[in-house]
Amino acid sequence: MQVRITVSFPYEAPVSQSLFDRASAVTPGGVNSPVRAFRAVGGTPRFMVSGTGPYLTDADGREYVDLVCSWGPMILGHAHPEVIAAVQEAVARGTSFGTPGAGEVELAEEIVARIEPVEQVRLVSSGTEATMSAIRLARGFTGRPKVIKFAGCYHGHVDALLAAAGSGVATLGLPDTPGVTGAQAGDTIVLPYNDLEAVRAAFAAHPGEIACVITEAAPGNMGVVPPLPGFNQGLKDLCAGNGALYISDEVMTGFRVSKAGWYGIDGVRPDLMTFGKVMGGGFPAAAFGGRADVMAHLAPAGPVYQAGTLSGNPIATAAGVAQLRLLDDAAYEKLDAVSAEVRGLVTAALATEGVAHRLQVAGNMFTVFFTDAEVTDYDAAKAQESFRFTAFFHSMLAQGVYLPPSSFESWFVSTAHDTAAVERIAAALPAAARAAAAATA
Ligand code: PLP
Repeated sequence: MQVRITVSFPYEAPVSQSLFDRASAVTPGGVNSPVRAFRAVGGTPRFMVSGTGPYLTDADGREYVDLVCSWGPMILGHAHPEVIAAVQEAVARGTSFGTPGAGEVELAEEIVARIEPVEQVRLVSSGTEATMSAIRLARGFTGRPKVIKFAGCYHGHVDALLAAAGSGVATLGLPDTPGVTGAQAGDTIVLPYNDLEAVRAAFAAHPGEIACVITEAAPGNMGVVPPLPGFNQGLKDLCAGNGALYISDEVMTGFRVSKAGWYGIDGVRPDLMTFGKVMGGGFPAAAFGGRADVMAHLAPAGPVYQAGTLSGNPIATAAGVAQLRLLDDAAYEKLDAVSAEVRGLVTAALATEGVAHRLQVAGNMFTVFFTDAEVTDYDAAKAQESFRFTAFFHSMLAQGVYLPPSSFESWFVSTAHDTAAVERIAAALPAAARAAAAATA
């Protein structure tokens, strides 16, 4: 049975396909970020032209319930009126000044007020910049070269952090990436996730050499693989005991899973933290921050250099401030409730068809792994039956539900996902579950 062909592409997207053809002529792979190309699932990537609330509309005029939410940032749904108004108001005053501005103070104050371990914060333009800068600062502060990271965790496309990375690196099955030299990656120690013994052994093997441990606060880039109880605290303790900094990457979880991100859930106090996605309201804004004594080493206060022409951009900060101010306790309750509802529907549909699966959750983020086994690290994530996800994904897409085009990603909901949107998801699931059940490797 030709399941992957008959189930995968029972529909066409001619306008998206023609845009993709044009894009492929002028852009490598036709996209500006690899996972968007649908390589893991095949088919035509949808070129979106507009978004409203929980819906996206593609260039062929089809509407989808969006469970990607721009990979996390659109936590209030698309084109939220108050965020749009803040942006319009800011844009009318000019788009970039290259000077300090009130918007960046407001955004920094908002972050510091929400996340207690962040005493000082520096704004940048992408999560990649945030983690790159945090690592440089950790090395500058400690005077040590080495960095511990975990297999399957993605921290942006920082040279030193691409070893065994999740997200697109996992999706495309790249073991490592050409272009990163031995010198750039040589000080990176990659360990299995959720394995404190491995971390202890690495500290013992490299006394006085490890500047920091960087970890996703609750990983979402190998699919959602939450830390086992005590893992983050264990990392923090090992760092403290060995003179290294504990860096919690909250680019994905920050302001998404609670008002104070994953820190608001597990309470483990990092030395440095990184943020992005939600804090920019759909614009390029990100940040790193933490202990004031460490941040004091950053230029111009201290010697560790870091800068950015568009850092603290007035449009991005206006969008970020507007979005964060709308994210009150009620918003997070709504996100948790919608997430639980969708998860329940997915489980019920897959269980009805007898499809082995496991829903893994971190706050309102979740992933459906097509396996029976608990997924606690990258190897376990890779052991799932991804071919079932492919069939499931295309069935959902054909029925107007846009999922992440990879089985190694988190699904994201927004406060705009109302009953009507959830009903559309519910209506699509039985056929998708049947497709997953029928799929062959
Ligand atoms: N860190 C984490 C945990 C992420 O999920 C991402 C992006 O998905 C990044 C860093 C990189 O952020 P950006 O894509 O904004 O560079």
